[in-house]
Amino acid sequence: MSASMNIADADMPIYGGLGMTFMEFPQVTNIQTSDADVVVTGVPFDMATSGRPGARFGPTGVRQASAQLVWEGARWPWSFALDNHLKVEDSGNVSFKHGEPQTLVDNLEAHISQILESGKSALTFGGDHFITLPVLRAYAKKHGPVALIHFDAHTDTYDGGSKYDHGTLFHHAVVEGLVDTEHSLQIGIRTSYNRKNHPFEVLDAAWVGDNGPQKTLERIRERVGDKRVYVSFDIDGLDPAFAPGTGTPVAAGISIDCALKVIRGLQGLDLIGMDVVEVAPAYDHAEITSLAGATLALEYLYVLAANGGAV
Ligand code: MN
Ligand code: MN
Repeated sequence: MSASMNIADADMPIYGGLGMTFMEFPQVTNIQTSDADVVVTGVPFDMATSGRPGARFGPTGVRQASAQLVWEGARWPWSFALDNHLKVEDSGNVSFKHGEPQTLVDNLEAHISQILESGKSALTFGGDHFITLPVLRAYAKKHGPVALIHFDAHTDTYDGGSKYDHGTLFHHAVVEGLVDTEHSLQIGIRTSYNRKNHPFEVLDAAWVGDNGPQKTLERIRERVGDKRVYVSFDIDGLDPAFAPGTGTPVAAGISIDCALKVIRGLQGLDLIGMDVVEVAPAYDHAEITSLAGATLALEYLYVLAANGGAV
């Protein structure tokens, strides 16, 4: 064997390496000195899961599935290459001490704050949905209460849960004043919630299915207006046919086609961040769920690029 045949060989195909960053974006080690527009972060945490665990492997699943997306230069239907308009870097995964969830809360909020304070925006892969709470704390510290576009089968506004709970985070986010509820929506909901004092507008999965992406976007635009908006995408907002690999699947969700049309249609809104959570690869089939998560995130990045007016 010649010395040139090693694992660092430049000819190594995408699928042959030890693992990859999201979309093969460069890895960033010093966020403060980086000139990236967007920093990707993985959060391998699922200790707040109430049902099936496994979202701790979500960031790895999504990054691996993004190998199916990197080959396309001028991506359909945008017809431009992302790299020419937006600089994205991957900061790897946030570390924490297993069994001590508060270390994750502290480390994640500090990490996202560092991204925001250095003038960048964050794209974050969960992890269970609880991870959005420390992220929103960092965002609210920087921007004040944010408008929220939240895709989910569940409202996650339950107020009887424990401190670390993926079903209560938006209850806490409202109580803590992190979200501008007057300009926020929840989309794809198809489980019960307390309608009294529920501050979000809900476009439930049946309404979205009956009315389609364009009507959904009309409601979003009317509600959000010109506010700074954060997108939180719980992958179980999709129908289990399109996202079986998740901890708490619920039948009759929205389709990946509808979801992608809605994400693309956010063009022009003041988007300041996104997360994709609850991808649990162990329950996935043929990477359907990981690929859906990776595609939703990539389309969001294209919307950011298009918002830059560089198309
Ligand atoms: Mn959720
Ligand atoms: Mn959910």
